[in-house]
Amino acid sequence: MIFTIHHRDAGSAARTGTMVLPHGDVATPVFMPVGTAGSVKAMTNDDLLAIGFEIILGNTYHLFLRPGMDTIRRASGLHQFMDWGENILTDSGGFQVFSLANSCKISEEGAHFRSHFDGSEHLWTPENVSEIQAVLNSDIQMQLDVCSAYKTSHEEALNACLVTEKWLSRGFARYTSLRDTGYKGTFFAIVQGNFYKDLREKSAESVCKADTEGIAIGGLSVGEPFDVFAEYLSFTAKLLPTAKPRYVMGIGTPEYILAAIEHGIDMFDCVLPTRLARHGTAFTARGLLSIKKEAFKQDFAALDEHCNCKICTRYSRAYLRHLFKNGEILSSILLSYHNLYFLHNLVLNARAAITEDRFMQFKNEFLQRYGQAM
Ligand SMILES: [Zn+2]
Repeated sequence: MIFTIHHRDAGSAARTGTMVLPHGDVATPVFMPVGTAGSVKAMTNDDLLAIGFEIILGNTYHLFLRPGMDTIRRASGLHQFMDWGENILTDSGGFQVFSLANSCKISEEGAHFRSHFDGSEHLWTPENVSEIQAVLNSDIQMQLDVCSAYKTSHEEALNACLVTEKWLSRGFARYTSLRDTGYKGTFFAIVQGNFYKDLREKSAESVCKADTEGIAIGGLSVGEPFDVFAEYLSFTAKLLPTAKPRYVMGIGTPEYILAAIEHGIDMFDCVLPTRLARHGTAFTARGLLSIKKEAFKQDFAALDEHCNCKICTRYSRAYLRHLFKNGEILSSILLSYHNLYFLHNLVLNARAAITEDRFMQFKNEFLQRYGQAM
């Protein structure tokens, strides 16, 4: 993978760039929608393309269990299976194994778990998780890591770090041999270390030594307050080489995305925009809007007067509320489109602001308006 930085903002660590990946170029900073099981919920691929997304996520844990790797292999990979011609990043599934599986035991060998669908038993190792992601033909694959929860003890967090370090070298070695046999995707290492600065330093050191093409900062946005998130994000980002793309997993609100961009993060993803949409909540320039409210019953204004998306230019709040109240599936479709458009547009505006060395001014003005409740 080639990563080129085009411009560094004068007043922050924000930067714009391009990643050259097997399924096309990806401009950064980039928000990546999550297609958990081979579909970004309530979105067609055509609509994702129309908004301008160049990369989406797939969840290895879900796809491994359903439809299973045999089906994916026969389909010649996830792109063909879901008819998506742009890039796909897959997570290692580690987070889902810990949070969703019925039981999960970590040993140095790997993660033993039972499927939350049918109780079937599986062993994931750093090696076979790299192989699974190669079968998915993911353009960016992630190492298997051990996530630790917010407020985990130092001892436990240290153990998670040590296992993650060993899994990095094993996973990266297997990935390298897969590259030799024609797999074209790239491999990202993950910095862990929980909320302990000595462990973040230790983890970052081993990740830098491994010299993968990109680096993710893991273990953030796991329930900690925003200022703790921002502090550890900034601390960890400064430990990483500036020339490589950096990825923070699982962030999807304007506040978190703008903080990440400010600290030099290039990539982020989250299920939040589509999940909020299914619950009748929209991002707007003036903060979150719940379409359920009685006040919108005869409000014929646009969902977000500052948004130029095809939903805001065509439909009224009154109609969108009516759809939601009646449980019409169109409600999820329209609100998901708007929410993803909104975040993509936020990132486009951030890129423009970085290019003109006014990112902090843009961020402050955006958040000031965003903080004004409807
Ligand atoms: Zn809109």
